[in-house]
Amino acid sequence: MSARPLPLSPSAGAPSMARILAADAAALQQARERLLADQVVAFPTETVYGLGGNALSLAAITRIYEAKGRPSWNPLIVHVADVAAAQALVSAWPESATRLAQHFWPGPLTLVLPRAEHVPAAVSAGRSTIALRIPSHPLALRLLQVCGLPLAAPSANRSQGISPTRAEHVAASLSAADVPLILDGGPCRHGIESTVIDLSCSPPRLLRPGATPLSALRALLPDLALPDAPLGDEGGLAIDEAHPASPGMMRRHYAPRTPLSFLSEPLLDSLRALPAPRGLLTHRELPVLSAECAVLEKLPDDAAGYAADLYAALHRLDDAWPRLASLAVVPPPGADPADSAATLTDDLWLSIHDRLRRAAAPKNAKD
Ligand code: AMP
Ligand code: MG
Repeated sequence: MSARPLPLSPSAGAPSMARILAADAAALQQARERLLADQVVAFPTETVYGLGGNALSLAAITRIYEAKGRPSWNPLIVHVADVAAAQALVSAWPESATRLAQHFWPGPLTLVLPRAEHVPAAVSAGRSTIALRIPSHPLALRLLQVCGLPLAAPSANRSQGISPTRAEHVAASLSAADVPLILDGGPCRHGIESTVIDLSCSPPRLLRPGATPLSALRALLPDLALPDAPLGDEGGLAIDEAHPASPGMMRRHYAPRTPLSFLSEPLLDSLRALPAPRGLLTHRELPVLSAECAVLEKLPDDAAGYAADLYAALHRLDDAWPRLASLAVVPPPGADPADSAATLTDDLWLSIHDRLRRAAAPKNAKD
């Protein structure tokens, strides 16, 4: 929601809409044919839009990495239609996987397990493990069933950018030459990525906080190991980039082009220190701050609602025209290191905080 009407960006509406198809039977058939021919297709899941390709085809995997500009060391999550399809891709299936799958699949939980030998190592960026989930979005499930393939599907955006939660976000980020077909399933329900846990080690370990809340996981997996530092903190899941346990957990990720920073107390002083024109992302009504900003994005103050619209709000701020010079975030619950899952009413805030911290991380010269 913009506080004031803004002139449209000169590029608004420019990306070809012809490749965005309502997901009817004909579009699904077209998607199937492309996937069987080792091409890629963008499709909605309940977390974010994915860029899918046959997980058993080296050519398709290579296309995914190229279209995204994704570093070759960052492994892909493989989406499957049912538990039997997941089991066919692993060399071991622990009892904990059965328990978690029964409870959370289909849904936004990714399990890392030992990879079966017949699965190309490239899908896991050379690792001996593979990340798997069954998505709950009806269109994603239908696509998996129709094509009969396991689909490697990272978020359908250029590497490090803001993840897409609408078909138009995909079209704005990836070229028509690289991604000629985008199935439109409307806005994604959860709006942030899946929670990733590693079941290939003992005890099991949280690799990425996400749309499945930690407390729900701990109820079924009491020995789930957490990082030492608070989630999303520089020293925590951001880990040593040279030897990452979960290689995709980069310090800077999910980032808009416009510099983004958290406000600190006193909020008004902190805001005024940022260059104008400013955009404000907030879950609280703060009229004094809003008056200092050219564009306001007011997100819901419940964690699920905030997460669902977070990336779309970042896209809107980043695409505002005239361009904004800075984006300010009113810290959501969980921003204070003293907050922990135990003190938050909804620990989904930890996943939101993790994403915002990465979006705010400064760009390195090497990025
Ligand atoms: P994305 O597809 O962009 O949501 O990112 C998938 C993320 O899942 C990666 O960046 C890793 O953090 C994690 N992941 C995928 N495969 C593995 C694996 N084999 N081992 C550890 N983490 C993985
Ligand atoms: Mg991604």
